Amino acid sequence: MQNISVIGAGTMGNGIAHVFAQYGFKVTLIDVSYAQLDKAMATISKNLDRQIAKETLTAERKSETLNNISVNSDVNSGVAAADLIVEAATENTDLKLKIFRQLDAAAPPHCILASNTSSISITRIAAETKRPGKVIGMHFMNPVPVMKLVEVINGYMTDPEVTDAIIELAKKLDKTPCVVNDYPGFIANRILMPMINEAIQCLQEGVAGTEEIDTIMKLGMAHPMGPLQLADFIGLDVCLAILRVLHNSIGQPKYAPCTLLVNMVTAGKLGVKSGEGFYRYTPGSRDIMPVKVR
Ligand code: NAD
Repeated sequence: MQNISVIGAGTMGNGIAHVFAQYGFKVTLIDVSYAQLDKAMATISKNLDRQIAKETLTAERKSETLNNISVNSDVNSGVAAADLIVEAATENTDLKLKIFRQLDAAAPPHCILASNTSSISITRIAAETKRPGKVIGMHFMNPVPVMKLVEVINGYMTDPEVTDAIIELAKKLDKTPCVVNDYPGFIANRILMPMINEAIQCLQEGVAGTEEIDTIMKLGMAHPMGPLQLADFIGLDVCLAILRVLHNSIGQPKYAPCTLLVNMVTAGKLGVKSGEGFYRYTPGSRDIMPVKVR
């Protein structure tokens, strides 16, 4: 496996492209938006600089990594030589089904089609293709260059050799793969999202303020980041999409997204990527300020 195509150059896509390129793979990063592709390359360069500053990467490796990445706004030509495609487009079921039909038609027959989806059924995605045995979940964590886990999701039809290939690949990226079965939210988000939703519900009810909720969970539970800041970091739109999948597919009220989350997404307050969520973020600054929500 040498040629990797990554679909979607947002929060996750740029990180996935970064890591594959850093470990010597040839990466084609694909997005429908040129602006996103430019932004992604700038983010990758900045994150590589951070690694250089920490002395975990040399300047030479930075230029090799950047040289391993090409960008493309056309899916068909961008996947024509791919051995593996990692889809990291917007968390929307209809969009992903459409993308996988397109990938199945355009990618070489040997190519594995992986999705970085946080919650959408791999079995459902695979059923859109003529190669369901070669469809799998490869769920990286944010920020991809830093986080060690890759949740590997077996669809109902995924071939065992494909699972083995993805496990080996994750290890080559210096990640730790964990294999799970295809149930809504898999493991990571089935457990994380109800916690984030409950934290937002507590804020909505006025049980405590943003900083108090985050401090309690950080200092009390030894979490490196509080749930509200983590939600900002993931993207409030992504959190809402995942909760909706959990709620619709499992059907229990405990997964229903709380009103404050719905309102904030509707108002365009998406967290770090929009500059404001539960906190306000200033580009180039690490200082964050809690925002008064209502
Ligand atoms: P994002 O909104 O930051 O980026 C999505 C990108 O997909 C955008 O750049 C958009 O232009 C692009 N896109 C939309 N339609 C496309 C198409 N047809 N072809 C190519 N590109 C297209 O989203 P994200 O946070 O990077 O999430 C991407 C995926 O990763 C989702 O499935 C999400 O659930 C999953 N995920 C997110 C996180 C997180 O912390 N944000 C963590 C793990 C997994």
